[in-house]
Amino acid sequence: MNRPGLQDMLLKIQDDKTIRAVFIQDTDRLARNALDHMQIKAIMKKHDVELFSVSQPGITDSPEGNFMDLVIAGVNQLQSQITSRKTLKSLELKFWEGWWPTGVAVGYLNAGEPDDEKKRIIIVDEERAPLIQEAFKMYVTGDYSVFEVRDALYKKGFRTHADKRLAHSKMIEILKNPFYYGEMRWRGLVNTGKHKLLIDKDLWERVQLVMAEHNRYACHRQKFNFILRGLTFCANCGQRYTAEHHPKKNKSYYHCNRSGDQIKCQDKYVEVWDIEQQVANLFKYIEFTPNFTDRLVTKIEKIYSGRKEVINKDKRGLNTQKMMLEKKRDTAEEKLFGGLITDDDFTRIKVKIKEQLGLLQDELYIQDKKLNMRIDELQDMLLFVRNAYEAYTKSPDEMKRLFLGLYWERFEVADKKIQTVIPSPIIRGLMQAEDMVFTKKYKEIAGPRIITDLAVEFTPFIAGKSKSKIAPKTQKSRQIAEIPAMISNQPNSVILDTVWGG
Ligand SMILES: [Zn+2]
Repeated sequence: MNRPGLQDMLLKIQDDKTIRAVFIQDTDRLARNALDHMQIKAIMKKHDVELFSVSQPGITDSPEGNFMDLVIAGVNQLQSQITSRKTLKSLELKFWEGWWPTGVAVGYLNAGEPDDEKKRIIIVDEERAPLIQEAFKMYVTGDYSVFEVRDALYKKGFRTHADKRLAHSKMIEILKNPFYYGEMRWRGLVNTGKHKLLIDKDLWERVQLVMAEHNRYACHRQKFNFILRGLTFCANCGQRYTAEHHPKKNKSYYHCNRSGDQIKCQDKYVEVWDIEQQVANLFKYIEFTPNFTDRLVTKIEKIYSGRKEVINKDKRGLNTQKMMLEKKRDTAEEKLFGGLITDDDFTRIKVKIKEQLGLLQDELYIQDKKLNMRIDELQDMLLFVRNAYEAYTKSPDEMKRLFLGLYWERFEVADKKIQTVIPSPIIRGLMQAEDMVFTKKYKEIAGPRIITDLAVEFTPFIAGKSKSKIAPKTQKSRQIAEIPAMISNQPNSVILDTVWGG
């Protein structure tokens, strides 16, 4: 969202009421992640501006177009997590040269190399480094908590840039960082750093053991990732569910949070694994028509082949350089045999060429790795389109949240069972156009009712980002009347009015 061009465009939309439409080259040019994408579209909708894609006419403002956009945005989000290709390349080179490529660890500073100011290296922050060393020595005794170590540092004069004490999480990050004993772990790569060490590996390892031991008895709340948080509601009273862990029983629950002056709700606690499985099962009923799958796959493949081309071009360039070096070595060899150069000269040339070849080899390796990474992502996305259930269950929690937000708006639970499901606006739109997009499999669901058309206004829910969804009034009226008309599987009985909240 921070790109100036994009900001200009959004400002213009807000100021100039005569703007009716925005044309873009390709939907994946619009936003680099799904959340931004939703936000941008929400702003456009609010100001009554339509979005058109030049390369995919007629696709952007249909539910189908919206869904495709979101999936593509999901792909782009995965993609942009690898930052921009160009920056990454130079960062990776720096990493392989033995220098930490991005923000430096507390206790170190970025500086220019004495001989060559332009070359950036990492030096010890003489003021803070001793305090970092002290933190490790203090914590390894096992007598202090992370908080106590943090506060001790503060007393000794350790201040953040904002002149505050370190955040607890930052202190943990420091104590867990292998950089201090010289190991650099970055984007799945490992290398030994050239920076000066603050501690030795043995001390670091002992600190990790102490931390593991402390965590065994500490509150485990942070460890639990309640992925349905914010999406589950009590079907009896409409209250949002909360999640908690009971250390004594070693079980986690979602439950109705109604309390205080209100009447106590008789709703039951439901175990986390139980309801999460019920939610996962819902994905089994999502099956796109072959036609829709094909279109989506084609689009995703197009994006990937474009990216693959760029990498392959880089690889060809590197291979050419490699060939030239090898040729140079052969020429030197011929000159040696011809008595044109001395043995020492030849050895010197050979060593130099070997070094350069090594660097090229590293670079080729990085490119291959990138290519594989991309192929893995492609596979994930294709699986997502072809088998939503499998893709969902295989995903890490972060991705699960993304999928949940993409598909569902609300689960209402009573008696430990999901009673009612409201799919996301986009999915509701898709379901109404089911012949085009979904097979009729979801109609077989005997369990929870899936509400495919709603006469109420709603805002799209994005897991983890937005707050309350449906206005209490709406919620109450739906509860009392049960409104059979709304719980209809007949498409087109009510025209869906998608309102994107700003
Ligand atoms: Zn309740």
